Amino acid sequence: MLINLTEVLTRDGKIMEMDACLEMEVFQSKLGSFPICRKEPVHLKITNTGNRILQVKGKAELEIVVPCDRCLDDVHYKMALEIEKEIDMKQSGEDRIKALDEHCYIDGYNLDVDKLLYGEILVNWPLRVLCKEDCKGICNVCGINLNHETCECESTDLDPRMAKIRDIFSKFKEV
Ligand SMILES: [Zn+2]
Ligand SMILES: [Zn+2]
Repeated sequence: MLINLTEVLTRDGKIMEMDACLEMEVFQSKLGSFPICRKEPVHLKITNTGNRILQVKGKAELEIVVPCDRCLDDVHYKMALEIEKEIDMKQSGEDRIKALDEHCYIDGYNLDVDKLLYGEILVNWPLRVLCKEDCKGICNVCGINLNHETCECESTDLDPRMAKIRDIFSKFKEV
């Protein structure tokens, strides 16, 4: 969704508030494609603080489907985003990209809500996602999800480094 900023720029101190919609259905990054399974309207407040500077404040809540780091099950990861930006409308688009080093969510006199949110999701991307704190992961021998099933594989609860050492020993035995 594009928000036209012409109106709020007409006078210093002017405030514009709205609920904007995120059109993005899938978040795509270098890490892959992640469906957005829930999104609330993004509440935005844009204030003309004078000297053609706009302050953008907002809150957004959404849920993204991300695979668990250990077992790869889908996790509905909840994200609460706090947006706080200052946009200098005196700058040209190019200068702004250089200054902020981020995706250009201002195009002429329009604010692109999707691009703004995209940058925020990227910055707030979790280092790791687990379906639950004590996720048991996947058996590295037979590949089953150990949260749902159990297996008879021996090495499942071994430290992977130990498993390597054991492999070396079993090779010796074969010789
Ligand atoms: Zn898991
Ligand atoms: Zn197994």
